Amino acid sequence: MSAKGDMFYAWTTSSDIKGECGGAVTSFLQHALANKMVDAVLAVRRGADLYDAKLELITDPAEIPKAAGSLHCGTLLSAKMVKKYMNGANDLKIAVPVKGCDAMAFYELAKRTQINLDNVILIGLNCGGTVSPITARDMIADKYEVDPDSVFKEEIDKGQFIIDYNDADGKHQHKGIAIDKLEEGPEGYGRRMNCQRCKCKIPRQADLACGNWGVFGEKSGKATFVEVCSEKGAALLDSAVKAHAVEVCAPEPKGLEIRGKVETAMLKLGEKNRTRQFAGLGEGRERLQKMMKLTSRCIGCRACIENCPICYCVECSTAKPHLIDQNRVPPDFMFHLIRFAHIADSCINCGQCQELCPMDIPNALFMHAQQVELEKMFGHKPGYTMELPVLAFAEEANERARLHATGSDMIYENVFGEEK
Ligand code: FAD
Ligand code: SF4
Ligand code: SF4
Ligand code: SF4
Ligand code: SF4
Repeated sequence: MSAKGDMFYAWTTSSDIKGECGGAVTSFLQHALANKMVDAVLAVRRGADLYDAKLELITDPAEIPKAAGSLHCGTLLSAKMVKKYMNGANDLKIAVPVKGCDAMAFYELAKRTQINLDNVILIGLNCGGTVSPITARDMIADKYEVDPDSVFKEEIDKGQFIIDYNDADGKHQHKGIAIDKLEEGPEGYGRRMNCQRCKCKIPRQADLACGNWGVFGEKSGKATFVEVCSEKGAALLDSAVKAHAVEVCAPEPKGLEIRGKVETAMLKLGEKNRTRQFAGLGEGRERLQKMMKLTSRCIGCRACIENCPICYCVECSTAKPHLIDQNRVPPDFMFHLIRFAHIADSCINCGQCQELCPMDIPNALFMHAQQVELEKMFGHKPGYTMELPVLAFAEEANERARLHATGSDMIYENVFGEEK
C-alpha cells in the first residue's frame, strides 16, 4: 500500500503505450477509465501538427494510448474548459493530466465552487516549460536552420530544446540547443515568458506528480518518476499495480538526489527570471505609465478575460457601459484596472491572457508582477491550497442577489462577518 509522500519508478506493462518516459501516466489514465474510477479522461493530444495540442475527452479506454507523449508547444489550460463546457465536473468523474499551471487553475476554480475536485483525478506532470507554437516555428527556422515542417519530435531534456527531423535527403537528424542560449537573445526565443518565471515545477497539488527528473541508472528513459501526493493518488497507483497495468520499483538514491537538485535549480532560475522581467517593468509611476502605454494598443477583444481561469463572471464589469464605454477602441485603461483589481491576488501566472492576446500585450507579466507584490503583503499564495482569497468570499450569484435586495454596495460582507 502506498501513501502520500511515497516515490516510485513506474512503467507501463502495455506494449500499446508509447509513453514519453515509462508510459505510466497513460497507464494510470487508462486504468482509471477501464475500472470506472472515472467516466472520462480529458487528455492532451497532438492536433493539426507537432506545434498544436488539443484537449480531447476520451471515454473509450482503448483510445487512451493515442494521447501518450508530451507536447511542449501546447498552450492549453484544461481547468477553464472543465468549468466552461463540463459543468465544472459536477455531473461526471474525470481524470486529467496537468502541468503546474493547470493544477493551480483547478485549485483556483475549485475554491470558488466552479469545479468539483471530488470528481477529478489530477495526474500531475513536472514541467520545465512550454514554447509558444509560433515562437517554436520561428526559432527552429532561425536558430536550428531547419524547416519546422520537417520536425517530427520535440522534447525538452537536460536544459536543451531538442528536435528530431528529416533532412533534405530524408535522413533522420537530431539537434539540441541550450534553452539558456535561446532565451538570452533579443528575439524572445525559448520558453514562454511566464514559464521562465514559473516556480511550480513538480505539481504536488495533483494526486500524483509524474516526470522524468530523477530516473537514474538502468531505468533511465524507461520509467516515469512518480510521487504520491494524495490518498486518491495512492489508491489509483495501488489499484494500477494490483491489476498489473504498471510495475513499480524504489527510486535510486542518486536519482532522488538529482531530482531534488534539479527542482531547486529550476526554482532559483524562476526567481531570477522574475526579478529580471519585473525590473524591466520599472516601479511605481514608471510601471503604471509603461502599462498604460502598452495597453493602449488593446482592441478590447476580451480574449484575456475569456481565457483567464480566474475570470468567469456571468456579468463582467468590463462589459458594463456605465463603467467602460463599450464603443471605444482602445478601451479606457479602466478596462485593465478592473481586471487587475479583481484577480491580481489570484493570478496563477498561466500566461493565457498574454499568449492569446492578438495585440501582444504582456498581460500576464503585468498581472503576475502585481500578484507577487500582493503575496508579499497579504501572504496569500494562489494555486497551492484551498485557502480563499479575499474576493472569493463573495460567491457571485448569491452576492449579486444580496446586493440587489439590500441596496448595499459592500461586497465583502462575509469577510468582515457583518455588513458595515
Ligand atoms: P505518457 O504516458 O507519455 O503520458 C503523457 C500524458 O501527458 C498524456 O496523457 C498526455 O495527454 C499529456 N500531455 C501531453 N502534453 C501535455 C501538455 N502540454 N499539457 C498537459 N498534458 C499533456 N518532466 C520532468 O521531469 N521534467 C520536465 O522538465 C518536464 N517538462 C515537461 C513539460 C511539458 C510541457 C510536459 C507536457 C511534460 C513535462 N514533463 C517533465 C513530464 C514528462 O515529459 C512526462 O510527461 C512524464 O514523465 C510522464 O511520462 P509518461 O511516459 O508516464 O507519460
Ligand atoms: Fe509549465 Fe509553469 Fe509554464 Fe505552466 S507556467 S507550462 S507549469 S512552466
Ligand atoms: Fe485587449 Fe489583448 Fe485583452 Fe484583447 S486580449 S482585450 S487586445 S488586452
Ligand atoms: Fe493566467 Fe493571465 Fe489570468 Fe494570470 S491573469 S491567471 S496569467 S490568464
Ligand atoms: Fe470581469 Fe472582473 Fe469577473 Fe474577470 S473577475 S470576468 S474582469 S468582472
